[in-house]
Amino acid sequence: MSDRFAAQRRALIERIRERGIGELEILRAFDLVPRHEFLPQAVHHRAYEDTPLPIGFGQTASQPSLQALYIQLLKLSPSDKVLEIGTGSGFQTSVLASLVSNVYSVERLRPLSLSARESLDRLRASNVALLVGDGTIGWARYAPYDAILVAAGSPSIPEPLVEQLAVGGRMLIPVGTREGQKLQMIVKTASGYNVRDVKECTFVPLVGRFGWAESTLTER
Ligand code: SAH
Repeated sequence: MSDRFAAQRRALIERIRERGIGELEILRAFDLVPRHEFLPQAVHHRAYEDTPLPIGFGQTASQPSLQALYIQLLKLSPSDKVLEIGTGSGFQTSVLASLVSNVYSVERLRPLSLSARESLDRLRASNVALLVGDGTIGWARYAPYDAILVAAGSPSIPEPLVEQLAVGGRMLIPVGTREGQKLQMIVKTASGYNVRDVKECTFVPLVGRFGWAESTLTER
């Protein structure tokens, strides 16, 4: 791997650390995965800024420090099986793959999923399965999951995702309006689930059967 971005990447890791991500394993994972490899050429020069960046089709790669916060809050262990909704660029998918045993990731836009697959293959991530489809219905085939990360904002918590969590499993999902959401942490229990608000955030909409209808996007 060419390391012309090494200094910028180190600065990003420092920024993530300043934002309260202290776990070395997580910082190391962000150091291992070259974010520019997942982004369109036009934004390579900004790849190591702690900011969302456009990846085409009206979508964005999420802010790295927020992705790191997701991972820290979910308390992932190496043996975990993780479901990600909204593969997007595949960058977070790749970070997850370096931390847990298996990552399953669903993306509704085929071109993004294909491009993520190419980047993941280039980096030889062999423990990642990608699916093109509506992630609001989850991916029942490999359930239950120890953790679920939803990278798009939903009007409510999609029931199928709660169903596909293992007892003791954790899920992070932005819930709210199209303009702004609260990041919510869901913990599945033997009898149901607990919900707690983590922080305000703004994500692109989660579009699907248990998310926003496609028509609400085009009306605007
Ligand atoms: N983690 C990604 C975030 C991409 S933005 C990254 O950092 O690159 C969120 C993604 O969720 C977009 O690519 C969008 O197309 C996708 N998405 C929206 N609704 C979805 C749904 N119902 N199922 C799967 N993916 C969805």
